[in-house]
Amino acid sequence: IQRTFIMVKPDGVKRGLIGEIINRFEQKGFTLLNAELMNVDRQKAEYHYMELKEKPFFEELVDFITSGPVFAMVWEGESIIEVSRIMIGKTSPLEAMPGTIRGDFAFSKAENVIHGSDSLLSAEREIANFFDPLSIC
Ligand code: ATP
Ligand code: MG
Repeated sequence: IQRTFIMVKPDGVKRGLIGEIINRFEQKGFTLLNAELMNVDRQKAEYHYMELKEKPFFEELVDFITSGPVFAMVWEGESIIEVSRIMIGKTSPLEAMPGTIRGDFAFSKAENVIHGSDSLLSAEREIANFFDPLSIC
């Protein structure tokens, strides 16, 4: 059983997609352990995307993630890290398949509705960045 960090990004919150996204994860059979609507400060956003620090779009990415509330969640389930990435779909709107969250709802490479951790290590780091360990059910 794995845990992962899933976040509805500011564009997804503004577009009213929180319920749709929770639904998909619940229907898949995953378990929600914690969730919070929150504003992200620059320090938290930079730590979250630390692996992308050298990318030309890093500043734009931090601006975007701090531009409005996100809906941060911890989910648990069998192979959830890999399965959630499949449910989310590819980063590029040209590659995200219909039936995936990005394939169905995202049309921009930068503003793509949802984040999901890509490894066990990043899941642990990202959960700790957003949630107090004692607050997780
Ligand atoms: P995430 O980590 O948010 O789940 P991902 O793992 O699919 O997305 P990453 O390569 O980790 O993709 O990039 C993180 C985020 O940075 C992307 O989701 C997107 O918001 C932004 N991003 C990635 N590539 C670009 C780009 N070429 N131009 C602008 N923004 C980008
Ligand atoms: Mg990523």
